[in-house]
Amino acid sequence: MKKGKFIVVSGPSGVGKGTICNILIKELDAEYSVSYTTRSPREGEIDGVNYNFVSKEEFEKMIQMGDLLEYNFYNGNYYGTSKSFVLDKINQGKNIFSEIDVNGAKNIKKIFSDALLIYIAPPSIEELKRRLVDRGTETIDKINERLKIAKMEMEQVDFYDYVVVNDDLDKAINDVRKIIESHV
Ligand code: 5GP
Repeated sequence: MKKGKFIVVSGPSGVGKGTICNILIKELDAEYSVSYTTRSPREGEIDGVNYNFVSKEEFEKMIQMGDLLEYNFYNGNYYGTSKSFVLDKINQGKNIFSEIDVNGAKNIKKIFSDALLIYIAPPSIEELKRRLVDRGTETIDKINERLKIAKMEMEQVDFYDYVVVNDDLDKAINDVRKIIESHV
C-alpha cells in the first residue's frame, strides 16, 4: 500500500496556517496530527481537537517513554507530536497535516526525509502584529514575545521545501493546495 504523506505546516501564530490546514484537510480527506502541549487552552479551543492539553509532568513522562516523534519548548511551554498516531496513519496510507514550529520541522526533516515542509509567512511583521492584536487572545507582552520568535524563525526558513506568503487567504490556500497535489 502507498504510504501517506506527512505534511508539516509552520508559520507564526496568527499567520492563518490553522485556517489553511482545516480547509485542505477536509478537501483532501487528510487527517490532523493533534499535538500535545502544556500551554493553557485559548478561548474556544477544545481538548483533543486543537491540542491534547496535558500537565508538565504528563508531558515529561511522554518524553521519557519515547512517545513523541519530536518536541520543543516554545514560549514557556512544551509542544510535541505523537509518534504512534503519525506512524500508524502514514502506514495506513493517510496524508497527515501537522502544525509545528521551525525547530520541530527541522527535526522532522531529519527523521522523515520525504516529509513535505511548508512555511506560511505573513506579508510583514507589522501585519502579523495587527492580526494578533485584532485576535485579542493574548496580552501585548505575549504578542511581542511571539513577534520576536516569528522574526527569528523567518530568518531560518531556507530548509523548508516551500514558503507561501499569506497576504490573501484564498490565494495562499490555492498555493498550498497546488504544492500538495504535486507531491501526493
Ligand atoms: P500556539 O501556542 O500558537 O498554538 O503554538 C505555538 C507554536 O508551537 C506554533 O509555532 C505551533 O506551530 C507550534 N507547535 C504546535 N504543535 C507543535 C508540536 O507538536 N511540535 C512542535 N515542535 N511545535 C508545535
